[in-house]
Parts: sequence; structure tokens; C-alpha cells
Amino acid sequence: MSKSSGGLLSGLEVAVTVDDQFQWTGIPFPEGHGPHTVSKKMMKAFEAYGVPGVYAFNSTAPTEEDPRVLDILDDWCAAGHYVGNHTHQHISLNWLDVDTYLRDIETSERLLSRWIEASPSRYFRYAFAMEGDSATKTRQVQTHLSQNGFLSSPVTLWFYDAQFMVAYDRALRLTDRAAQRWIEDTLVDTAIEQIENQAAAATAALGRSPAHIMLIHGTTVAGATIERILGRLTEEGVVFVTSERAMADPANVIGSPVTTRQFRNSTQKWAEHAGVSIPDVPPAVLAEVEKAAPIEGMSYDEVLGRAIQEWTRRVPFTPVPADFH
Ligand SMILES: [Zn+2]
Repeated sequence: MSKSSGGLLSGLEVAVTVDDQFQWTGIPFPEGHGPHTVSKKMMKAFEAYGVPGVYAFNSTAPTEEDPRVLDILDDWCAAGHYVGNHTHQHISLNWLDVDTYLRDIETSERLLSRWIEASPSRYFRYAFAMEGDSATKTRQVQTHLSQNGFLSSPVTLWFYDAQFMVAYDRALRLTDRAAQRWIEDTLVDTAIEQIENQAAAATAALGRSPAHIMLIHGTTVAGATIERILGRLTEEGVVFVTSERAMADPANVIGSPVTTRQFRNSTQKWAEHAGVSIPDVPPAVLAEVEKAAPIEGMSYDEVLGRAIQEWTRRVPFTPVPADFH
């Protein structure tokens, strides 16, 4: 295990957030795993590393099939963590008109109001962190959020953990323990490298190191590795802070300097605006992850693609897969 590598992350303030604890409709958890088992592991890891007040942003459509998954939010809040709004259907604003998107936010709000009201701040996170393909749409949604007391909680650091989810599911189905271990180890290393690269890019783009907001998803593979990831970040000198502390940094509240329909976090947008390139984002290793534990018809793109097709039966829209690139 590597020791602190020259302090790139030393003193970096990071608020941890978790998205999609119920996963997405059409992408179930692997057999024997689910929101309860994953959130338990995460709460334990947060306690071990003193990670305060973690906001969970969950699209709520999966609760239509199984409302009992909402119970995990009681334990989550009892452990000192919080809940925000992440839309009901998890459809990108790129693919919907503003009214449909706002109604989807309201549907989720009705299901989660109990836990959102119990949280100190009202935060909203865009589905896929996509803030809309036109500045007009972004402004219309932002206006609605402001009028309803919500602040958009942006992501400044991510490490593509959701892209490990399907490979991990394949490894579990095949009982391929070597592949399972390799995927876990690779996710831990990727997390640290991505956070180093993205934090450095944010500093280069802004001329200072902002308070960061990190995203990890409520997947089985994230549950299996969260403790190691937090441990490594702690060794590197990361200081875990609340979302409220991170949101006190103007960089996180004044909105993005660029409008893009592509899958980009705030750091990527700051970097693009400033002409700063970020090495290995998205990480090249994702191609290797896709080759692990192969099962016909179960690539990441196939699984996500089928799920999104399924969503179009609930709400008519045309998905644009190129938006993920
Ligand atoms: Zn999400």
C-alpha cells in the first residue's frame, strides 16, 4: 500500500455524497445484494473514517417496484446522514422538456419529503449530473430550484465507479472470485488516481484548490470497496467535510461556466473553460474492466442501454447515448 505521495491530496477538503442507492429501474442488484447491505457497509465506513453528513441522492422510480427500500433512509438519517432530490425517473434533462423534468422532480419530492425535511439543507442533484443541453433550460430549472428552496449540489470529483457495476455483477454471477478481486482492486486504484488528476485540474483551472464534492454510487462494488477508498484518501491527507462546508465555496454555487450536453462533472467543465487538460479522464482501464468476467449480452453499454429503453416506456423521450461520451 502506498504512503502519502508528496501531498497532492494533503489537506484537500472533500464532501462525500452517494447517488442512486436504489440503483435504476431495469438494473437490479446482483443476487443477495441490495440497498440494505450496501448502505450498511457505507455507514460503517463513514463512521470509521469520520465522514460527516453524507447526502444521498436517489432517483425514486425503483421504489415503485419495492417501496420497502425506502426504509434504508431511516437508518441513514439516524446515523447522521441526509437525503436530497435526484428526480424520480433519472432521465437526463437533455432528453426532456423543462416541464416534464420539473414534474419528475416534484414526484420524487413527494416520496422523499419526510427525509428531505429532516435534512439541514435542500439539495438537488441533476440526473447523470447533466444540467441541460441549453443555457435556457438550465436557467429555467435553476429558477424552479431557487423558488423551491433547493440548491444544486454539483459533483467535482468522480471516478466512474458506476462503470464497474456491471462487470462486478458478471463476476458475481460467474462466481469468478479472481475477477471480483481484480475489479475491486482496480476500482480502489482508479478512485485515487482519478481524484488526484481531477483535484489537480481543478486547482489549475481555478487558480486555487476549491472544496470538493465527491460522488460514489450505491452499487454492490462501491459497498465492497468504500472502506478501502476512504482509507487510502485518509492516508493521502484528505479531510472529509460536510456538504454544507463544501457548498460555502463559491465555486460550487455560482454555476458552470460552460453549457454542455456531455457527461461532465464541474471540474471537467472548469478545466474545459480554462483550457486545462485532465489526463486519463475517463480512465483507460474501463476497457479492461469491460473484458472482465464476460457474459454474452451483459456489457455495461448493453445493460444501461436496455434499462434506458425501458424508461422510454414510462415517459416518452429519445435517449442520446452519445451524451455519455
Ligand atoms: Zn444518479
